[in-house]
Amino acid sequence: MKPFAYRRADDVAAAVALLSQDRHAVFLGGGTNLVDHLRLGVATPDTLVDVSRLPLDRIEELPGGGLRVGATVRNSDLAADPLVRQRYPVLSQALLSGASGQLRNAATTAGNLLQRTRCVYFQDVTTACNKRDPGSGCSALGGYQRYHAILGASPECTATHPSDMAVAMAALDAVVQVVGPDGERAVPIGDFHRLPGDRPHHDTVLGHGDLVTAVDLPPLPETVRSRYRKVRDRASYAFALVSVAAALDVRDGVVADVRIALGGVAHKPWRASLAEQELRGAPATEDSFRRAAEAELAAAQPVDGNAFKVPLARNTLVATLRELTGGTPR
Ligand code: SF4
Repeated sequence: MKPFAYRRADDVAAAVALLSQDRHAVFLGGGTNLVDHLRLGVATPDTLVDVSRLPLDRIEELPGGGLRVGATVRNSDLAADPLVRQRYPVLSQALLSGASGQLRNAATTAGNLLQRTRCVYFQDVTTACNKRDPGSGCSALGGYQRYHAILGASPECTATHPSDMAVAMAALDAVVQVVGPDGERAVPIGDFHRLPGDRPHHDTVLGHGDLVTAVDLPPLPETVRSRYRKVRDRASYAFALVSVAAALDVRDGVVADVRIALGGVAHKPWRASLAEQELRGAPATEDSFRRAAEAELAAAQPVDGNAFKVPLARNTLVATLRELTGGTPR
């Protein structure tokens, strides 16, 4: 492991200033992803700026019924929070489906949003990877792509985003609060993570020195039911092959509103806008759910190693919506 300096920031301004002074410094939160990357040689910073003890560890009510989740709130605390469980069950379920109990106790809200792909080549410094080493190539092309993208990929990168939490937040239209060298700004979560394009080394729109301070969750009408469903290779401690976060508002048998995001299918949490369009105003029936899933997945471009994800995503989405309307999940 390459030696590095360790600094601890006392407040947000000091954290941003410390990083801004050093192009090769990175923030350290819970460390559940970064420390692995230090050991593997995937990350080689000169300095770690520890932000894990900044006073950003609270969950606060916002006017109108939303919640502000501080950046250093631990995943286990967020999942267990009574207001989160009551108002956003999809988020609590997504958090509890991720990692292990020990990891959730350490992982932070901001760190979860910013975790990096688990593409096996990205984590193996002996292989070519455009995300780790821009311009070096992509070893996944023609290689192991079981966990890789079927939507929105590029010739430069087909990796997927590994977070469950971020998929739920995408369905909830969360807003990421950021403080950086140029001040504060709010970034809708749909604009926060990037598709790979020709710059897959940029996972998000954050610049150097930008610090996530909180995530705001807008209020949901009380008639909305929400659910997170994850399909994986084993029952726990595994990343999603496909996941679905859905919030559904059905009135008199008709879909009044719906928000859907898919995980495990793209470089970012994939907001299923085409499926939502198909569903709004439609009867809340199995036929509608199936048509919506087909509409969303029509643009899928799987490869041999992950073609199974197209029917898997379709069936997982239909099952999630069926469950939200009181039907028996199959
Ligand atoms: Fe790297 Fe992306 Fe290719 Fe994986 S898919 S090897 S992360 S460029």
